[in-house]
Amino acid sequence: MPAMARKRWKLLLEKNPQFRADAEEAAVLALRDKSLGVITCGLGLRYYLENEDDWASAHGGARPSHLHIGRYPLGFEKIRRLAAHVDKLLVIEEGYPFIEREINGVFSAPLPVEGRLSGAIPLDGELSADSVRDALGLAPRDTLPAPAIRIAQRPPQFCQGCPHADSISALSEALKGEAEFFAASDIGCYTLSALPPWNAVESCVDMGASIGMARGASCVGQKKSVAVIGDSTFYHSGMTNIVDAVAHRTSLTVLILDNSTTGMTGAQPTISPGSRLPALLEGLGVEREHIRLLEAHRKNHETNVAAIREELYYEGVSVLVLKRECLEHLKKARRS
Ligand code: SF4
Repeated sequence: MPAMARKRWKLLLEKNPQFRADAEEAAVLALRDKSLGVITCGLGLRYYLENEDDWASAHGGARPSHLHIGRYPLGFEKIRRLAAHVDKLLVIEEGYPFIEREINGVFSAPLPVEGRLSGAIPLDGELSADSVRDALGLAPRDTLPAPAIRIAQRPPQFCQGCPHADSISALSEALKGEAEFFAASDIGCYTLSALPPWNAVESCVDMGASIGMARGASCVGQKKSVAVIGDSTFYHSGMTNIVDAVAHRTSLTVLILDNSTTGMTGAQPTISPGSRLPALLEGLGVEREHIRLLEAHRKNHETNVAAIREELYYEGVSVLVLKRECLEHLKKARRS
């Protein structure tokens, strides 16, 4: 609550020295070989330990000095002790190089600090035993040779007969010939329509973002601004943007692809049946005559194209619900 936020922030600041002292105590320091000090945190510890024996074998049995940090905020005492003991530090941490950046410059004498920032470990991607091995200066492990067979690339695509494919075909056809349009996608199987051969949507940010992005584009003058969103995602976080768009009478065309399930993650049930969508949309302020219920099927292609085209020219919020069950969902239902 706002009234409490400032007080709690002050309290948090007062507790910080104690947190730092606890973190300092919890950090595990082993001062051993002087040529290298390794700082690990999180999963980095496991990748380091996978390689420690090999490092020892290559260095006459000596093991690097090692500090494992398990808590935030950083306590600098053990870091300084490690730094005073070794010639070089290697920081092995998952994600962004937080510790490496924090400790750069805290030592009295210049000391090389390696890690993701220095490039010793790639700045992008996940840590791996191999990337840590390379940073430790060890030769790659022997691996099995790559198979000589050439495997054809198979980019992800819609299931054969997917209702979304028919909806996206209708949208593409409706937009054909338009000099200007913007189609924002949400996250779901239909995001595949960003790929060839569809190339139908241009953006995908997070759950519910499509309607807000299309609304934003429309507000700055974009003509034919379209949002493509699934029924689950619409319930999850698409609705609030509709309220906003209705309140500001934004020119916006929303396609809700209702496949009666959450297809992308394995056909889990949606939180509300599609039959309630029209009443819900009306309740959110969308005009009844601009809520269009369509069947997402190729036999209705011409009808669907015509309906989408009509709504693209409406200067207000229109919602087209294209409904047909996800095939995976159908299969699952038949099996149970
Ligand atoms: S899982 Fe369902 S929604 Fe996803 S591509 Fe397959 S049929 Fe389409």
